[in-house]
Amino acid sequence: MPFVLCPQHGGHGSAGGCRHIAERIATGGHLGELASITVEYNDFKLGPIWFCAECATQHGISAGGLSLKGADGLNLLYGLDWAPICPVCFRAAGGPDRLWTTT
Ligand SMILES: [Zn+2]
Ligand SMILES: [Zn+2]
Repeated sequence: MPFVLCPQHGGHGSAGGCRHIAERIATGGHLGELASITVEYNDFKLGPIWFCAECATQHGISAGGLSLKGADGLNLLYGLDWAPICPVCFRAAGGPDRLWTTT
């Protein structure tokens, strides 16, 4: 699980989101519609990583979220532009309560 150090909330296991989400959180903007990608790889579950409506359209992520499996899914996710974000800020900005999980 990635770790993020937030100037307001200190260290947390992080949520993940596209850089537009990070920018909106930083500027206090509304997050709008979000879509998520989750990847299962062996016994490991990565995500959900959140994407804004524009990114979702661009990358073909459906509103219900995209659930991927295996190395292909992992490669796809790491090929996208996203970064760890503070889960407390994410939730405060109206983000979903379903954050980064690893099982
Ligand atoms: Zn985006
Ligand atoms: Zn924070």
